[in-house]
Amino acid sequence: MQTTRVVSFLGNIPNTETRLEHLALTLIQPFAKVSQHLRGVKNMNKISNDILKAVAPCSLFCSTCTGCKYGDISIYAKELLRLLDGHKEFLEKNLKKEYRYKLDEFIVFQNKLKKYANPKCGGCRNGGANGCSIKGCFINECVKEHNVNFCGECSLFPCDKVNNTVFKDNVIKKWFEGNTRIKQIGINSYYEERKNIPHYIEHKK
Ligand code: SF4
Ligand code: SF4
Repeated sequence: MQTTRVVSFLGNIPNTETRLEHLALTLIQPFAKVSQHLRGVKNMNKISNDILKAVAPCSLFCSTCTGCKYGDISIYAKELLRLLDGHKEFLEKNLKKEYRYKLDEFIVFQNKLKKYANPKCGGCRNGGANGCSIKGCFINECVKEHNVNFCGECSLFPCDKVNNTVFKDNVIKKWFEGNTRIKQIGINSYYEERKNIPHYIEHKK
């Protein structure tokens, strides 16, 4: 606000003490904005890379998805494959003829495990959401434009840009619910609270 505008604005305030309060508030406003921005940057720095990789900007978890290269399902599938190394050969050598079908079953299971162990998606922030089934999602770009890591940290949340033109109702619901929680408890606690929840659990309801 320019000085003349400040003076004429203050002229409308009768009480001197109140005038001074208004003057002080007007003068610190730009600094408050800078400090708010810096706080945002500081908060962004405090978030570990592991969390940024695990939680997409929309609040959904990449790290629990079957499509994620570095996700838990891939990690455990790799570990299971390692522990089962040699088991096929063991069955081949030792199964009696009438139990050979167990070998076929194991081969099917092992091939499935190999698929779970080697998914292709590099995560929402990394791979342009190439594994996410929501085509046309703009949230990853939008959070960058707003200098935040999650919608829950954005001053416009919940914005009307996230609507049915791109997203299904259930995704909008999860976006709203997840980011409201991030806003309430912060991303670190949100991550701890949800990191072990199975990605697809809601489909059992
Ligand atoms: S592409 Fe969009 S909906 Fe999919 S994980 Fe990323 S931000 Fe979320
Ligand atoms: S404008 Fe909407 S979509 Fe973009 S970062 Fe903010 S809350 Fe998320």
